[in-house]
Amino acid sequence: MAGIDRRFSAPKGVSDTLPAEAAITLGATKYFAEVASLYGYSPIETPVLERTEVFERSVGVTSDIVSKQMYTFEDKSGDSLTLRPEGTAGVVRAFVEHEIYKSEPLPWRVFYIADMFRYERPQAGRYRQFKQVGVEAIGAGAPEVDVEQIDMCLSFLGGIGVAQPKLLINSIGDPTCRPEYLKALVEYLDSSEIRSGLCADCRSRANRNPLRVLDCKRPECKKLTEEAPKALDYLCEACRAHFEEVIAGLEALGIDYRIEPRLVRGLDYYTRTAFEVVSGGLEAAQDAVAGGGRYDGLVELFGGPPMPAVGFAVGLARSLAASKSKGKAESDRQGHGRSRHRLGPPRFEPAPRRPDVFVIEIDAGARDQALRLASSMRALGVSVVVSPGDRSVKSSMKHADRSGASVVALLGPDEVAKGEVTVRALRRSAESGPQQLSIRIEDAPRAISEILLEDSAVEEEPEG
Ligand code: AMP
Repeated sequence: MAGIDRRFSAPKGVSDTLPAEAAITLGATKYFAEVASLYGYSPIETPVLERTEVFERSVGVTSDIVSKQMYTFEDKSGDSLTLRPEGTAGVVRAFVEHEIYKSEPLPWRVFYIADMFRYERPQAGRYRQFKQVGVEAIGAGAPEVDVEQIDMCLSFLGGIGVAQPKLLINSIGDPTCRPEYLKALVEYLDSSEIRSGLCADCRSRANRNPLRVLDCKRPECKKLTEEAPKALDYLCEACRAHFEEVIAGLEALGIDYRIEPRLVRGLDYYTRTAFEVVSGGLEAAQDAVAGGGRYDGLVELFGGPPMPAVGFAVGLARSLAASKSKGKAESDRQGHGRSRHRLGPPRFEPAPRRPDVFVIEIDAGARDQALRLASSMRALGVSVVVSPGDRSVKSSMKHADRSGASVVALLGPDEVAKGEVTVRALRRSAESGPQQLSIRIEDAPRAISEILLEDSAVEEEPEG
């Protein structure tokens, strides 16, 4: 067999998500949508492409994202467009463009599930295309909303089984208090023994974007900034009060947190609350599964009225990787459950990967009956795969077995002549009823649904 032609492999840093993994990702995005709805957030979709200025303006030209990581190109009319590297800028742009503040009650609470693109050095947990699920509440100044989002974020991460999630939180002040803090920070970084020890990136950041120096993951920089001035010591009265109320809210909900004075987040538009969730289940260098915070100045920056806002984003691949050891076995088991309507909180379930029923045409003479049987079962919400009559029954049976279907429905010349279908209940135990039966074809959809309900009742029974 010829080898794989590498010219056609996926570009560096981007990859395929094959069905087994994609079923889990799809389940996680559905679960996120349910959790976000529980908190009153509505879905929003913004374009994958934005004008480059949208990110330059909001994320900031000195940020790593804008200065190094954007996929920017000129389209055929000469406009500079960029594949979105993050979700907030597009949502705020849409909020201002559609003058939502004139028509909708505030805060405007929205959630998104979207692919992001960053030209990064690919490694485990760091890709050039990755899915984020996130929320924004625009027109929300109250600390309760920061707390609501942190609670939602942790509830989602807990629901998908992320191992040892830890909340880190800080306040980076606002335009009233930050200038004084930045002055002190720059002075600290400027002292010769600090500056000479910083990595090359941080030396150049020290004046352009000094906050980012605190965020550097290199051990030498981390060590040198241990004693750096802390934003929390420079907060103005209003920022301090906001931070204290957020902390009080977390305590009221019993949420564990750690104040992390060097947590700044990489994007320029953040004010006040900055938070991150890290997982003990990941390597320390890429252990952040979610990040968020306030961006009280961004709406105005896009030409809207001055208005506070808060949001967060969760990296899906990374959170699912962090949940593998703890959550995967459990979610795989749950994924086989079939009851679609139940009361109670939403549950993370991978999208079903197995059909309920495998219809086997023993030969092509049964085609019309097979097609009709499949379509009437699908109308009842039963998933069906039809194995066409151009292959042997043996190979169809093998395929049915591998597919994990609960029921096989066989249609051949005998069945067609008698107006019947042969049904095999593959998961039924001998005590629960016949494992093979002949059913009149018009009664088959109902009878098969009953077998499926019986199967799912057995699967849902508590173990032990
Ligand atoms: P950010 O938008 O940088 O605040 O990132 C929020 C979350 O997205 C992070 O905590 C990660 O889980 C995830 N993330 C960010 N960059 C990447 C990347 N290049 N590859 C995979 N996940 C990422």
